[in-house]
Amino acid sequence: MTRIGIIGLGIMGGPMASNLLRAGFDVIGFDVVPSALERLAAQGGTNAVSAAQAAAESDVVITMLPNHPQVEAVALGEGGVLDSAKPGSLYIDMSSIRPETARKLAAVGAERGVRVLDAPVSGGEKGAIDGVLSIMVGGAAQDFAAAAPIFDVLGKTVVHVGPAGAGQTVKAANQLVVGGTYALVAEAVVLLEASGIDANVGLDVLAGGLAGSRILELKRKSMVERQFAPGFRIDLHHKDMGIILDASRDAGVALPVGNLVAALIASARAQGYGQLDHSALLKVAENLSGK
Ligand code: NAD
Repeated sequence: MTRIGIIGLGIMGGPMASNLLRAGFDVIGFDVVPSALERLAAQGGTNAVSAAQAAAESDVVITMLPNHPQVEAVALGEGGVLDSAKPGSLYIDMSSIRPETARKLAAVGAERGVRVLDAPVSGGEKGAIDGVLSIMVGGAAQDFAAAAPIFDVLGKTVVHVGPAGAGQTVKAANQLVVGGTYALVAEAVVLLEASGIDANVGLDVLAGGLAGSRILELKRKSMVERQFAPGFRIDLHHKDMGIILDASRDAGVALPVGNLVAALIASARAQGYGQLDHSALLKVAENLSGK
């Protein structure tokens, strides 16, 4: 049986580990938060005492960590994943990080005989729980094929988008669209409510027309009811906007709307909403209008 190591058992990594266990994989996990390890053990997974142990004792290692400093510390450090993984094994980073770091992981992996994929995801906590994530994969075609049985458990739309780092670039484009959509849905709610229209009713109609989106489908009710428990934290989207703006500079393109969305998300964070779901951009839109 393929043994999978998962490092980072948070909002996304936790349910991903559960789905792999349910699908019959043997899972060994590591997280710095003890309660995350307890949840894994309660479902039949094995707890590792370190990322190195999770990597050394598996055929495929997955990281699902907040950002590139955590990924670099876990993967590149002494006794890290690439130092400890078996030669010929597969390392899949599924965190959302900058493409540059993904390319570095692949280069170091190649030196050590470890095959590396970048495979960030979209679909949120619900997509992770339901095993229907969109997974955008960068790396070699044969490594993508080797990882297919794992991706099939975690996701519904799984696409090999190019060489190392390409998955992260596609994820940056995804976050650009998601951030912009939330910002505009927030403005729509403010406009509807200030005009005396029930925003739930208004957004219901929008959801069925050309303005319809997964965000309207899944989030309109909680947004209108001001339920901002994460989900996906503003702090993480702020991180993603940094990745997007860096990528735009590297590619030599202008993203005027993207820059505006980045400023709105930075403002949300500055106003103390960093730990709330990114749908809390509604609070920024309200504050701008004195509502
Ligand atoms: P999270 O903070 O809930 O989970 C991250 C986990 O990593 C935590 O349990 C934390 O304790 C653990 N961790 C941190 N440093 C560690 C270390 N050195 N060693 C071991 N464990 C460590 O975050 P999340 O929401 O699960 O997001 C993870 C990644 O997935 C991020 O890059 C995020 O941008 C991306 N993502 C999140 C969502 C979402 O809706 N939450 C959706 C798509 C992509």
